[in-house]
Amino acid sequence: MPPSGSPADHWSATPPLASGVGIALLDRLAAQVVTAHERRTFPVLAPFTGARLGSLPACDAGDVALACATARGAQRDWVATPVTARCAVLLRFHDLLLARREQALDLIQLESGKARRHALEEIVDTTLVARYYGLHAPRLLRPRRHAAGLPLITRAVEVRHPVGVVGVVAPWNFPLILGITDVLAALAAGNAVVLRPDEQSSFTALWAVSLLRDAGLPAGVLRVVTGEGPVLGPALVEGVDFMMFTGSTRTGRTVATQAAARLIGCSLELGGKNPMIVLEDADVDRATEGLVRGAFAGAGQVCVSIERVYVPRAVFESFARRLVERVAAMRVSPALAYDVDMGSMTVPRQLEAVEAHVADALAKGATLLTGGRRRPDLGPLFYEPTVLTDVTPAMRVFAEETFGPVVTLYPYDDVEQAIALANDTPYGLNASVWSRSARRAMAVARRIRAGTVNVNEAYAATWTATDAPIGGMKQSGMGRRHGAEGILKYTEAQTIAVQRLMPLAPPPLLPEALYATWLPRLVGLMRRVPGLR
Ligand code: NAD
Repeated sequence: MPPSGSPADHWSATPPLASGVGIALLDRLAAQVVTAHERRTFPVLAPFTGARLGSLPACDAGDVALACATARGAQRDWVATPVTARCAVLLRFHDLLLARREQALDLIQLESGKARRHALEEIVDTTLVARYYGLHAPRLLRPRRHAAGLPLITRAVEVRHPVGVVGVVAPWNFPLILGITDVLAALAAGNAVVLRPDEQSSFTALWAVSLLRDAGLPAGVLRVVTGEGPVLGPALVEGVDFMMFTGSTRTGRTVATQAAARLIGCSLELGGKNPMIVLEDADVDRATEGLVRGAFAGAGQVCVSIERVYVPRAVFESFARRLVERVAAMRVSPALAYDVDMGSMTVPRQLEAVEAHVADALAKGATLLTGGRRRPDLGPLFYEPTVLTDVTPAMRVFAEETFGPVVTLYPYDDVEQAIALANDTPYGLNASVWSRSARRAMAVARRIRAGTVNVNEAYAATWTATDAPIGGMKQSGMGRRHGAEGILKYTEAQTIAVQRLMPLAPPPLLPEALYATWLPRLVGLMRRVPGLR
């Protein structure tokens, strides 16, 4: 029996939850998917219970082509809409999302299995992104004057055009954030979007799409196709002008190769094996608290989750003891309530991947400090928050991304060693440094090759700094989301230069030889004139 108060109680019954999430809503959401004709469907299962949430159309390449064609048609009017009017849609979406958040929270929990407090992070981040681009896109997209080769006689202006139709492929771990925030930036820039959310997270994405429609987004500007990634992804690359992909490094490489063959741009947000360095002067209580949030939010299925922790040898024992106490006290449950520290894993294959990493590590001599077991008494995909030590390079969990609630602890002798260990990875997504001295921590942070480094926080500080770009170095990605980069990537720069007074050629009556002597002198002189350099 699932614990009382679990969604299974509600879900097996037809009446909707108090928020309105029920069969009728899910069917209405499914009706938004683009299909050329009647399609077979696939079921979406609720991770908490394994029960069927609803069904969605299994689109094919023809549906993607149709979605791209209709989006392309709608984009012509959308790009002609003033940027302030486009941004007004984002700001209304922001307000509607806050007003209807209970429905979104229920849906996110039912579809992903995450705890409510982690679902709330999705609401907050999506709201921040909608507000940021809603308020700042007009400034970021504004034409910019540039210094010209010969001042006064040439005036150069950079104009930003939307690329046209953007394809977005989103994974299942952040149904709302990854389902819609990249879409918001692309729309604000004047593009149409064809979105293919993961099979496991499509209902939340469709919910956000319907909210955008309620906020005034014209029909056709944002189309959704649902179904298998390997089927729809390649068709999407064929039909769009830019690809935004979030997922594993392996699939990202495939998408990038296909995009390269078409000479279209792509932005890739990929995997990580994110380190945390605890410096000697760190507050151990705060660091362990931060680690619990950073390693076990979303049951560790967060691209920026902390999976490796480097602790000074002198405090290693006490740090490990404190962490184990804290983890043992965690409340793990499928309840749709805020007093839960961790929910379920989301898909069976990820649970199996986590079990395989832990089994491999234990077979090769790792020490299990806590966790390491499935919890079928809570639901089919629950796995305990797990802490390992004595992990060696021979074990898969040492260098491969686990993407689950498993954290590995390593002692270090000096900070140089800790920095070298943190950087000893093909990934470079996120990192975390803990110290009582922000200056010391910043100095260490600058030496870590990762797209984001959080000081005295695991990942939320950089993620919520919406004006600053986030993304991966090395094998963790290409391109950035958030900030100016997060919207300009959906545009193409066009430079328009106006020539005035005289051409960039010898003036009439001036002998060519004299011009050839004076022009380099003039150019050389410009280096010395302040304001022209
Ligand atoms: P995955 O690469 O297997 O799948 C990601 C998505 O791509 C899925 O929806 C899948 O159906 C789809 N897909 C599969 N083949 C495709 C193809 N040929 N073309 C286009 N799409 C295709 O990854 P996963 O295991 O489902 O997701 C977890 C991974 O995503 C982890 O590595 C995690 O770190 C990464 N991730 C990264 C970020 C980030 O922002 N950097 C965020 C979330 C997840």
